[in-house]
Amino acid sequence: MKIQFLGATSEVTGSKFLLTTSKGVKILLDCGMYQGKGLETDAMNRDLGFEPTEIDFLLLSHAHIDHSGLIPYIYKLGFRGKIFCTPATRDLCSIMLTDSGKIQEVDTVQFNKKRAKSGLPPVDPIYTMKDAADCMQQFISVPYDLKYSLTPDFSVTFIDTGHMLGSSAVYIEFKEGRKKRSLCYTGDVGRYDKRILRDPKPFPQADYIITESTYGDKLHSTLEIAEQDLLLTVKDACAKRRGKLLIPSFAIGRTQEIVYALHRLKIKGDLPDIDIFVDSPLALSATNIFRLHADCFNEDMQEFLAKETDPFGFENLHYVRSIEDSKNLNSYNRPCVIISASGMMEAGRIKHHLANNIENPRTTILCVGYCSPTTLGAKIMRGDKEVSIFGVNYKVKATLVRIEAFSGHGDYSELIRYLSCQDKKKVRNIFIVHGEDEVRGHYSNHLNEAGFHKNYVPSFKEEIKI
Ligand SMILES: [Zn+2]
Repeated sequence: MKIQFLGATSEVTGSKFLLTTSKGVKILLDCGMYQGKGLETDAMNRDLGFEPTEIDFLLLSHAHIDHSGLIPYIYKLGFRGKIFCTPATRDLCSIMLTDSGKIQEVDTVQFNKKRAKSGLPPVDPIYTMKDAADCMQQFISVPYDLKYSLTPDFSVTFIDTGHMLGSSAVYIEFKEGRKKRSLCYTGDVGRYDKRILRDPKPFPQADYIITESTYGDKLHSTLEIAEQDLLLTVKDACAKRRGKLLIPSFAIGRTQEIVYALHRLKIKGDLPDIDIFVDSPLALSATNIFRLHADCFNEDMQEFLAKETDPFGFENLHYVRSIEDSKNLNSYNRPCVIISASGMMEAGRIKHHLANNIENPRTTILCVGYCSPTTLGAKIMRGDKEVSIFGVNYKVKATLVRIEAFSGHGDYSELIRYLSCQDKKKVRNIFIVHGEDEVRGHYSNHLNEAGFHKNYVPSFKEEIKI
């Protein structure tokens, strides 16, 4: 078996790993999109590093676009293999990929306007909403923990990683000649003791592991502290400063976590009496999918569900779907909370709210997740005095707050706790991906300290025989 590392090597987006068996069967692990580098990103996304028509199967760890976002593109280029993932991942992909197709179409219209001014011919979007809808027929849902044989020599089991609804490690067992081997691709690994989803589940012994390392050099605070920080931020931004609190957030996962945290604070009577808007049609659709998959929730959440009717709905919480209602928020002049996508502030309605409010010193921007270094979110949060939004320069006068503990990714101690189910002597190698280069190096040191001495940091397009 051969592994090719075709994305997410020196960064956290664009996850793509190609396995080729000795019999020539080609299996792709994830097919993620690069995000956050403007024009450069488009070129990186179009350079797949493989021929889509030659891929036999695609195994998908979870629905985030940096893991699934190029599926419509390879479908457009002729990929017709089956895509295996959990039922919740399939359902989330059905809304997320269509949404992504829409973003590609809208962005390309804008881009072509600029090209026309320079006398350049128009270009096509990398894929359309139709490509995204059409590729859904290739999906096959496989429940958690069910061993599913793709060929007589190759089986897959999806094991809960507690990172987002439906997220899983992809555990593969394969035969090469007379040898039996196993490989676990972790996908993204969630935190422990969360509010909605279960803990990452231990996986059977693996010979090889491909692991994420987003926070391979950091330790997060506990969720209790994060919730207290959230409350203090709401009070400071809305009750004391009488301004708007903007929370850029991934529409799926993080938004539901924040809404549920605010709901719990509301029940305790701690929350100031202000309106909270979730301004993201995708978040609303995703929340409806969360309601369909209560089987993925942890025990605490099951208990909450037994007592309260809806964890994602409460008085003063408003979901905003129409563009008109979203625009009306510009003239809403009372203190409020606006939760809107995208989390890295690169796309979606949050950009309009930033453009309208970032120069107001009463505004607070609360960042609750990771921002890739080249994104608007990273520029704002690292303290740039001026940023460009929709081609216009804005002075950053808003107060900036960061709470990382709501992250969907475990810190390095949690990543190592996740691997503690393994007999270290039996692990033949751990490949560290999905992290910035410096972070991957730090995580390699942490693995060595924890006794996982056989670990390796692969480079982009590197090919390794296992
Ligand atoms: Zn993810």
